[in-house]
Amino acid sequence: MPNPKQRHNKSRRNRRRSGQIKNKITPKKLQKCPKCGAFVLPHRVCPECGYYKGREMVNVLKVKKNKK
Ligand SMILES: [Zn+2]
Repeated sequence: MPNPKQRHNKSRRNRRRSGQIKNKITPKKLQKCPKCGAFVLPHRVCPECGYYKGREMVNVLKVKKNKK
């Protein structure tokens, strides 16, 4: 049975992982909200104005009031 003689050290493991797409650390992709220009995650309602697909989905002012 093929068996590794020695364990790979942390730096070698991390070097390997840094090249893999699955484990790659990539900055989060952000899009600008067309309504208010804030950075928003794609396919998500804008947390600033509550708009998605050109319509108001969430009344942000109401939600903010309820939080307080
Ligand atoms: Zn917005």
